[in-house]
Amino acid sequence: MSLRHDKAKPGIPVILGIPFDANSSWLRGTAGAPPIIRVAFNSSSTNSWTETGVDLNAEGAYCDAGDLKFAFAEPFDTIQCKVGELLDQGMRPVCLGGDHSITLPIVRAFGQHIPGLTILHFDAHPDLYDELEGNRLSHACPFARIMEEGAAKRLIQVGIRTINGHQREQAKKFGVEMIEMRNLPALDRMKVEGPIYISFDMDALDPAFAPGISHREPGGMSTREALAHIHAITGKIAGADIVEFNPTQDNTQITATVAAKLLKEILGKMILN
Ligand code: MN
Ligand code: MN
Repeated sequence: MSLRHDKAKPGIPVILGIPFDANSSWLRGTAGAPPIIRVAFNSSSTNSWTETGVDLNAEGAYCDAGDLKFAFAEPFDTIQCKVGELLDQGMRPVCLGGDHSITLPIVRAFGQHIPGLTILHFDAHPDLYDELEGNRLSHACPFARIMEEGAAKRLIQVGIRTINGHQREQAKKFGVEMIEMRNLPALDRMKVEGPIYISFDMDALDPAFAPGISHREPGGMSTREALAHIHAITGKIAGADIVEFNPTQDNTQITATVAAKLLKEILGKMILN
C-alpha cells in the first residue's frame, strides 16, 4: 500500500480508488475518475485546510491506498475483499468510484465489520430498482440489494428528484427514509447516531455545478447545499464513497474540483467527529 503518510493509525481515513464502471446503464467513463479527483485534491491552487479547521497535511491525518487493481476474480469480490482488509486494519475507507454499483460490495464489507450502519445517501436517484435491463447489480440497484441483505440498519436518502412508482414501492418495502430535493434543506435530519456511511453520487448536485456525470438531472443541490448537509452530520463516520463522477462529460474540469472539495470536507468531518 502506498501511504501518503507513513504512520497509519487505527481510525485513520484511507482513500481507495475503484476504477470500475461496467454496471453503468447509460454512459461509461466513471472508471477514469479516481486519478483525476486525486490531481484536483492535491492541486496547489488551494491549501490543505478544511472549512471546519482540519489540516489534512498534518502527519497521520489520512492515508492513500492507491487504486484497486482488478485481476481474474469477480470485480465485486475484489472490491469487498480489499475494503474488508482495510477495515481489518482498523482504517476508515473512503472509496472513489467508479459507478454507484460499487457501493454494494463496499457496504457488504462494512456490514461484516460494523453492525448497525446508517447510510446517508446523496443522489438525484434512489437506486432502488429490483433490476434494470436484466442487471440486478446495475448502478440503479445497489440500495435494493443492500437493504435486502441487511448490510445496513438505516438508509437515509437526500436530494432525490427522479423516482418512479416501482422505486417508491421499493422505498416503502425497505423502510427507506427519503428526503426529496424539493424538501431541502434538511440539516436537522443529518443529526443521526453513528456509525454512519456517506455515499455521495455526484449527480445529487445540480448539473450547473457538476456537469461531469452520466445522468444529468436538473434542479439539484448547489455545492454549498451539499457541503452544508455534510457539515451538519454529527455522528461518527465509519466510511464514505464519492461515485459517478464522469470525466468524459467534464468539459471545464469543474466537476473534478467539486469532487475533490467534497472529499476534503468529508475527510475533515471524519477526523473531527
Ligand atoms: Mn444518481
Ligand atoms: Mn446513484
